[in-house]
Amino acid sequence: MIGSTNRDFSLEKFSQLCSAVADKYTFITMSEYVTAGDKLPERFVLMRHDVDKWAKNALKTASIEEKFGIKATYYFRNNKKAFVPDIIQDIEKMGHEVGYHYEVLSTAKGNYEKAIKLFERDVQKFRSICNLKTVCMHGAVLSKYDNRDLWKSYSLNDFGILGEAYLSAGESLNYFTDTGRGWNSKNNLRDFIPGKTEQFSAETTDDLIKLIESCEISNFYISLHPDRWKSNILNWSLFWIEDFVLNSGKKVLMAVRS
Ligand SMILES: [Zn+2]
Repeated sequence: MIGSTNRDFSLEKFSQLCSAVADKYTFITMSEYVTAGDKLPERFVLMRHDVDKWAKNALKTASIEEKFGIKATYYFRNNKKAFVPDIIQDIEKMGHEVGYHYEVLSTAKGNYEKAIKLFERDVQKFRSICNLKTVCMHGAVLSKYDNRDLWKSYSLNDFGILGEAYLSAGESLNYFTDTGRGWNSKNNLRDFIPGKTEQFSAETTDDLIKLIESCEISNFYISLHPDRWKSNILNWSLFWIEDFVLNSGKKVLMAVRS
């Protein structure tokens, strides 16, 4: 696998995925999805990107999608390397939706009042540079707090937010995430739609492409982390090692928690 042009989780493979999707499906962004009501397209793909570390990696996947005429949704964490206004604005200009990847409950260590103040501050920060419509929790696997729990006590409406990438996802969406290196892998503690068991899974991106090409499924909700998709073999290898260590750690966490 290593060294071939067919490496999984490379930008080349990402292009192949985009090509397959662009051929067979139409695209909607998260805000289009949450406001569509019963007017959803018959066949669609909702492509979501969580930008955890490097905004510049998101610029690469966004440009590839633009070439294929794909409109995706990008969520940026509020940290130095992910929140880069120029890049966020460039990606928005390509026609993609941009949003806020929040983790305020884990940052505030479970203090809800503190968390919601941080949320409000960050929403203003995003609104000062882009058109913020939807948000998406950051999984924060090493934290015991689930950032989505904030919405058991507060309302997204109060902030003019149309939807949350997990909580607003309907039962009929087929969710696929690259968390844990694989699609819907077992190395995944928090990245799933609450209360839903996915019918489909794919081990490799080639499997996912085959599923797309078969047109068996009416929709795909694909969640990707641009940080994982590398063109450079050295960066790719480093991330493979990081994933391996993280997945091993998650196995320990899962054993402890169960
Ligand atoms: Zn994240």
